[in-house]
Amino acid sequence: MSKQQIITAPNGIAVALPTQCLIDGQWTDALSGRTLDILNPGTEEILGAAPAGNGDDIDLAVKAARRAFEERRWLRLSAHERARILWRVSELLEARKDEFAALDALNMGMPFAQLRTGMLQKAVDAFRYYAGWCTKINGDTVDLDDGDRLRHAFTLREPVGVAGLIVPWNAPMPTACWKIAPALAAGCTVVLKPSEETPLSALLLGQILLDAGVPSGVVNIVPGLGEEAGKALTIHPDVDKIAFTGSTEVGKQIVQAAGATNLKKVSLELGGKSPFIIHADAKLEKAIQGAAIATFSNAGQMCVAGSRLLVHESVYEAVVNGLAAMAEHFPVGNVFDATTVTGPLVSQKQLTHVDNLVKSGVASGARVVCGGVRAQRKGFYFPPTVLADVSMDMEIAQREIFGPVITAIPFADDEEAIAMANDTCYGLSSYVWTESLSRAHLFAKRIRAGNVWINSDLVMEYAMPFGGYKQSGWGREGGHEGVDAYLQTKAVAITLG
Ligand code: NAD
Repeated sequence: MSKQQIITAPNGIAVALPTQCLIDGQWTDALSGRTLDILNPGTEEILGAAPAGNGDDIDLAVKAARRAFEERRWLRLSAHERARILWRVSELLEARKDEFAALDALNMGMPFAQLRTGMLQKAVDAFRYYAGWCTKINGDTVDLDDGDRLRHAFTLREPVGVAGLIVPWNAPMPTACWKIAPALAAGCTVVLKPSEETPLSALLLGQILLDAGVPSGVVNIVPGLGEEAGKALTIHPDVDKIAFTGSTEVGKQIVQAAGATNLKKVSLELGGKSPFIIHADAKLEKAIQGAAIATFSNAGQMCVAGSRLLVHESVYEAVVNGLAAMAEHFPVGNVFDATTVTGPLVSQKQLTHVDNLVKSGVASGARVVCGGVRAQRKGFYFPPTVLADVSMDMEIAQREIFGPVITAIPFADDEEAIAMANDTCYGLSSYVWTESLSRAHLFAKRIRAGNVWINSDLVMEYAMPFGGYKQSGWGREGGHEGVDAYLQTKAVAITLG
């Protein structure tokens, strides 16, 4: 039984959740003896507490995951039984979706209604999707074509071992599920390190995994600071793989840490600066609405935000003005109000980051069409903002803003649009709006990004691989590649006779 805290949302939903680390099936106080104060970014008040795990806590958790792996506590269950447990997780999550939505809305600032029907449903579906994979992990038989010398050769697909999972704050519960579900489907045991800003929903998730019958030690959860608990996981010699979602800067540190220790495998879902390209032949009204959703939702705190708006010069002013009008429908507001689309940014640090970048854009010549200054109210609110007359050499066109800020740049023809689309160090997502089939295919081929969404806002489905080109990451989540990320291949050859 864990020590519990109760957090009550303004809509009356009360959530009881643990306050300790989950290690080897037990709720334990952090060895550091410290806790993290967890803030509500909408009110700037303390919402709850989480343990501040350190290197010692991570060491205990890794040892527990290692024991669980070596003793085959998870793998000795049949694949059908593992699938049944993952399915049970999805049912328990579904039944308690309101509680998770309340926690992430309060802790992260994403509107409750958006979470409930969008992101959290995706978290539930992750366990359903990957439950199906437990029974479908197969190797190949290999024909060695060796004449009279008969041999039988085949491959085995085996779990990588102990996986360290490190996730950011911008969709806390879903990002944790997008890693835990495929890791378990592959047969790994894991240590999850949630973001220090938003660890609360991960603690409730830990309780649900235990309730669903995941054996002790198979999933361990240690909240803590990135520099402390996160780093300890990346340098631990008994961790076989790190699956990381977060900034490109920290992703590079993780690669160095893995290389300097045991060459653990690394998969990275990193930052983005996604182009949102509107051609003159696009259905403008829909494209403008799509652009607003792709950057103003979740206050722009999305790796796939389509915040770098590239518009054909003939429709540039119409699109910019249309977006400014659209921004009025996205006022910042209380995340428990059913009509709110844009909540607060997650922290004072993020608010300062967005504010500074907007100021740098204005100082270098960008024109503020709407928004542009932080909202004058309590909480870390920044209004939907459109900056026009931006050029690709400005800092705001190159750096990830991670706020509700669109930078609008005109282009003259297809070649210029493609060159600008590819002119950043990132390559995560891209959006193309056109009614021309051949132009749509041309852009799909020429844009250097892991995802190209045509006449759509973001499309994140488990059947589709998701990940980045260039400095947006290594590897893919989703589809068979999502499970492959937690597997390794063994080749077996037998001489017959
Ligand atoms: P961050 O990189 O600062 O932190 C991410 C996680 O890493 C946190 O849990 C943090 O505690 C931990 N961490 C920090 N320093 C560490 C270190 N030295 N060693 C190990 N772990 C460490 O990112 P953030 O600010 O939490 O999240 C925003 C970033 O995440 C943005 O760049 C965004 O684009 C990216 N992101 C990418 C995707 C994707 O799928 N590509 C999805 C969501 C967010």
